[in-house]
Amino acid sequence: MQAPAVGGVRVRKGDGQTIRLSRGASLTDFAEKIGADAASLVQILFALGELVTATQSVNDEILQILGEELNYDVQVVSPEDEDRELLESFQIAFGNDEGDDEDLAARPPVVTVMGHVDHGKTKLLDAIRSANVVDKEAGGITQHIGAYQVATDVDGAERRITFIDTPGHEAFTAMRARGAQATDIAVLVVAADDGVMPQTVEALNHAKAAGVPIVVAVNKIDKPDSDPTKVRGQLTEYGLVPEEYGGDTMFVDVSAKSQLNIDGLLESIVLTADASLDLRANPNQSAEGIAIEAHLDRGRGPVATVLVQRGTLRVGDSMVAGPAHGRVRAMLDEHGDNVEQADPSRPVLVLGLTAVPGAGDNFMVVSDDRMARQIAEKREARERNAALAQRAGRRTLEDFMQHMEKGETDELLLILKGDGSGSVEALEDALSKIDVGEDVALRVIDRGVGAITETNVMLAAASNAVIIGFNVRPQGKATEVADREGVDIRYYSVIYQAIDEIEAALKGMLKPEFEEAQLGRAEIREIFRSSKIGNIAGCMVTSGTIKRNSKARLLRDGAVVADNLDIASLKRERDDASEVREGFECGLTLKGFNDIKIGDIVETFEMREIPRS
Ligand code: GDP
Repeated sequence: MQAPAVGGVRVRKGDGQTIRLSRGASLTDFAEKIGADAASLVQILFALGELVTATQSVNDEILQILGEELNYDVQVVSPEDEDRELLESFQIAFGNDEGDDEDLAARPPVVTVMGHVDHGKTKLLDAIRSANVVDKEAGGITQHIGAYQVATDVDGAERRITFIDTPGHEAFTAMRARGAQATDIAVLVVAADDGVMPQTVEALNHAKAAGVPIVVAVNKIDKPDSDPTKVRGQLTEYGLVPEEYGGDTMFVDVSAKSQLNIDGLLESIVLTADASLDLRANPNQSAEGIAIEAHLDRGRGPVATVLVQRGTLRVGDSMVAGPAHGRVRAMLDEHGDNVEQADPSRPVLVLGLTAVPGAGDNFMVVSDDRMARQIAEKREARERNAALAQRAGRRTLEDFMQHMEKGETDELLLILKGDGSGSVEALEDALSKIDVGEDVALRVIDRGVGAITETNVMLAAASNAVIIGFNVRPQGKATEVADREGVDIRYYSVIYQAIDEIEAALKGMLKPEFEEAQLGRAEIREIFRSSKIGNIAGCMVTSGTIKRNSKARLLRDGAVVADNLDIASLKRERDDASEVREGFECGLTLKGFNDIKIGDIVETFEMREIPRS
């Protein structure tokens, strides 16, 4: 049956059946599913005001519109669902502990330290690292691998705790946004001399949203102006009621600087874990977990710190981590020592991957290298499509034409390069939250870990993008090419600074908004006619100041007779004046305008740019 014409094009209509398309599918993919010709779909969309090509990735909305038009029930499959299905096709059920209750063993809590800037998160992580007395023989924690584990004594038993070494809730939330939850407990650091601040509340909300119990570290109690009681009162208002007030949140007074009561904090973390969480995992299965930090090392290639969540990871295992795969060549712990195996909650640096996974990517051990490669390749292809979809954006014909007409850009394109996948993601996440209204958009067209390469610069040149280097520098000919092509490369080492600057740039790109500011008014009392310069108005300035070269309008009986005039000349007595104030007489002419009458009012004003907040 040939369907009725849609937008003048004949395409067989569906009868409401479901078709599944992955996010970022193209019209060609759609056409394939329904046995139609992609070019016809392009035409149908064109008739609906959407300009897309056959192979371009399109967003969910366009897929839905097309589905409705052709009577198909379009289901756009999310990357998470797709990944689950992909793994299922290999008979892998990620995220589940195998076996029964008795197969589960207790595992240490994984902790993220959050709080307001400068309240001592970094210092506290350092203090915990160096106060790790039990592990002293191991030579102390010397390596920053993105996470570390310490041991502490609670009620005569040795208990371990894993700390994620990237403080702040940005990384935590970026990971969670990707469906990965690494953190069991959040330590909320509040400086006792400063009290609860905006990011304290933000961090608290993020932890709550994730359903993660909080231990409050009231820091800087060594300072004379510290007021730990006040912090307790303030946080009570946010629903964190201290145990000593009858609530269920543990507050611990510490000084990261003086290493005061770090043991007390560690104990509280263990006690909170015992009281509110059942942290157990099966150590006897193939390992699974998430990548928490990864980068490209000059000598060692891709290195990734992974957190084992269940099972035991061993040297020689074949693993997939996001779009990367490989066989574990070696594992290092936070002391820089080689380890042969890693049990649940243990962070280890893994060598041997083929590529750099993203922070928050899941990893799993699979039975052989071939399977690892197949999964990784499928994931990579999918990521590529998704990235293309993002690049495509949605643009209607009208937008497109307006854009062409104006011949100007209303979109800032960025390429992000950073020293680690965690920082790149945190940066992208923070950038995506910048809001400067609808007139200007920001889009990250490419991102990656490592030095800024010539390829990055070429892409930036081709698409008019700005490159953001976070703790990285250009390599090879990249600088030379950037200079030649006029590509702007900006370097940052602090995320907030990058965000601030980009936000300012976005505001600069906005067309300025102006408002009128009244300058002064003058009443015309006499008119002098001059054959050379036209009619001169003899005025009395009745309010404000009349300035030469300012904009003016002429009012007669309260109505505007002429607008957008210029004060061409201005005299006081016989002399030229640049301005004349209230209460003084002046003579003035209006550029190209002679139709003035006695009693008219000259009102002057200027246009001032309204700063955007
Ligand atoms: P972050 O931004 O939360 O990571 O804060 P930092 O750990 O960088 O600390 C900010 C500043 O506070 C640094 O100058 C630290 O030396 C200082 N600081 C951190 N903890 C303490 C403390 O317990 N006592 C005192 N007096 N200063 C501290």
